[in-house]
Amino acid sequence: MAELNERLTLKNGRVLVFSGPSGVGKGTLLKRLFDETSFPLTMSVSATTRAPRPGEIDGVHYHFLTREDFLSRRERGDFLESFEVYAGGSLYGTLRETVEQAVARGEWIVLEIDVKGAKSVVEKIPDAFTFFILPPTIDDLRKRLETRGSETAEEITKRLAQAQFEIDASGFYRYRVVNDKLDDALAEIIDILQRDVA
Ligand code: 5GP
Repeated sequence: MAELNERLTLKNGRVLVFSGPSGVGKGTLLKRLFDETSFPLTMSVSATTRAPRPGEIDGVHYHFLTREDFLSRRERGDFLESFEVYAGGSLYGTLRETVEQAVARGEWIVLEIDVKGAKSVVEKIPDAFTFFILPPTIDDLRKRLETRGSETAEEITKRLAQAQFEIDASGFYRYRVVNDKLDDALAEIIDILQRDVA
């Protein structure tokens, strides 16, 4: 456990944390950031116990683990942070080795994780650059989730409640970016990366 609490030292590498409610457009923003900029970005592939969605590939989108595997890896100290993201739901965790190796290579590793995970990362890596992506309004978020159509009505209700909780708890993030127009939100993030991170 002692080792788990050690702080990571960032040499040339950077740790970038992105959070925001489900459906806020984080995925699209990150994809464009990777495709359209030349920052040395690399994505952290988390581990999870949830089932893969259609099209998701093991080792690419997530490392899909059984609950038993996840818990034994957690016991071994393999995770920088790990949480049950939705109450009674699946476990998610950032693999310590993935972050350490990227940072050692001088890369900017991007963690797309929830608010509890982000808080835990900041405790261990105070130099992490944390971004919280906000919807213009909760109602706007509801519409986006309905349009996406990948969740049931019950899941949407659950995700909206979670969204409000996350927004309320997001005061500790270094940067808060409202994703109203995608191009504007992207430009704002690129400005921050050029100004503060590079
Ligand atoms: P999804 O199941 O839709 O891929 O992700 C659900 C939530 O889990 C998202 O809010 C996502 O940011 C969060 N998440 C994904 N990976 C991790 C992780 O490694 N740690 C934590 N704390 N949250 C994660």
